[in-house]
Amino acid sequence: MKDKPYIEPTIRTIAGAFLIICGAVALARPDLKIFWIAFLFFIAVNLFQSGLTRFCLMEKILKRAGFRSEMDEIRDLALQDGLTNLPNRVLLEDRVEIAIAQAKRNHKKVAMLFIDLDNFKQINDIQGHKTGDQLLIEVSQALQLKMRTYDTLARWGGDEFVVLLPDLENADDAGVVAEKLMQGVNERLESNQNLHTTLSIGIAVYPDDADTTEKLFMQADKALFHSKAEGRNNFQVFSEMQESGRGFVDTDLTSRFTTALKNQLLQVHFQPIVDASSHQTVCVEALARWHDTENGWISPGMFIPLAENLGLIEELGNQILLEAASHFATCPWQDQIQLAINISNRQLFSRSFVPSLVDLIDELEIDPHQIKFEITESSALDTEKARRTLKQLSYLGFTISIDDFGTGFSSLSRLHEMPVKELKIDMSFVQRIKTHKGRVMLNTIVNMGKAMNLKLVAEGVEDQETADILRDMGVHYLQGFHFCRPKPDEDIRDYIMQSNGLDNILLPFTSKRKNLA
Ligand SMILES: [Mg+2]
Repeated sequence: MKDKPYIEPTIRTIAGAFLIICGAVALARPDLKIFWIAFLFFIAVNLFQSGLTRFCLMEKILKRAGFRSEMDEIRDLALQDGLTNLPNRVLLEDRVEIAIAQAKRNHKKVAMLFIDLDNFKQINDIQGHKTGDQLLIEVSQALQLKMRTYDTLARWGGDEFVVLLPDLENADDAGVVAEKLMQGVNERLESNQNLHTTLSIGIAVYPDDADTTEKLFMQADKALFHSKAEGRNNFQVFSEMQESGRGFVDTDLTSRFTTALKNQLLQVHFQPIVDASSHQTVCVEALARWHDTENGWISPGMFIPLAENLGLIEELGNQILLEAASHFATCPWQDQIQLAINISNRQLFSRSFVPSLVDLIDELEIDPHQIKFEITESSALDTEKARRTLKQLSYLGFTISIDDFGTGFSSLSRLHEMPVKELKIDMSFVQRIKTHKGRVMLNTIVNMGKAMNLKLVAEGVEDQETADILRDMGVHYLQGFHFCRPKPDEDIRDYIMQSNGLDNILLPFTSKRKNLA
């Protein structure tokens, strides 16, 4: 009855006209009995019912006939996501409540899958909102294809989706669904070169992990966070995290990380890259390290996704760049060793990146030829903006290296057009070097690199045998625990002195950065 005020006079008029036409048609064609009945019903209702009841009945008849009232439209808009037409979080919350109540009655389980698209922000920033929106639509359609009819897929907001699986017998079924969803998105996007993403999924189950709607959301979100910290493109189940004690990134940790970053408390460690034949250090890679006051050293695999999620990755990258360059500026062998710095796509696409970099190295009196930027292989490299920035950096004398090569999606033809001087072969290939297949793959990458006249670096070298094989293959430089782990500035200087047979002319680290604005 609460719908009555929304039935507009126009709808009544249209409805009346519609039924009169139906009646006329029925009179003209006696075989259409159904219209006879409708017509007579309309007349009867008009004669015997009061106004409001009449229109309520009419609305029902209209609905049956496929007509919708304005109220229906308004209701749908309020409960649907405008882009994907999926239920929004209001409708989702309602369905979770219902699913939990039913599960309680029937002694069943309800699983909630919190889904986040990996690197979506980057895609949106680099390829534009239209592409981002298209990706969200494609993903939502791919996900829907993998679900049962009574499951719910909702858009939580931004690049986050939630899948609700009611009426489960077994909690493990949620993991099976998660795998199917990841696979479904992968298959859907495989053929499209411009759209690519993977899924990170966090799973929580009622009643195993939570007994209320609110708690279920919270636990699934924690599991999602852990999935991101585990390197993305995977799913994590809350109960398994709890059993193993992993992944308890609480809000305190997040706030301590934010504070550490604000107060510039993150540190830089350096890991040598050595010549494959002489084993002399030719470069040091600067790596971000965070010592949390409560938990000690936190893995970069944990805090880098955290920085990304908090939108602080650019800030983190800039701090590490500043810190690493300041240390390097005091190094007595600057002219013999390069400094490698990882830069995120976010930094690369920031307008202020190149100008402030130029100011920094000018201030610190570093020769740009001594600095190498490691950028990750990604679709980002295929954009005009990226090529412009990379050409600019190369023109200024900086070296460009592609990090983790072999794991991304860069097109080889584009790679050829860019001022890239070096490929760092991802450690996952190096670790498979002792298998036949692994060696074939490595050989392919090495031959390709050589054909493109690029220097080759192998990461993750952990023993002498691997180092020898790589050298014999023609890899130029090696990096890994076999030579040296990442260490603070002072320790790394000792290592370089030994590996390169240099004199100890240690200059104290006088932070030149204090002079910087
Ligand atoms: Mg690197």
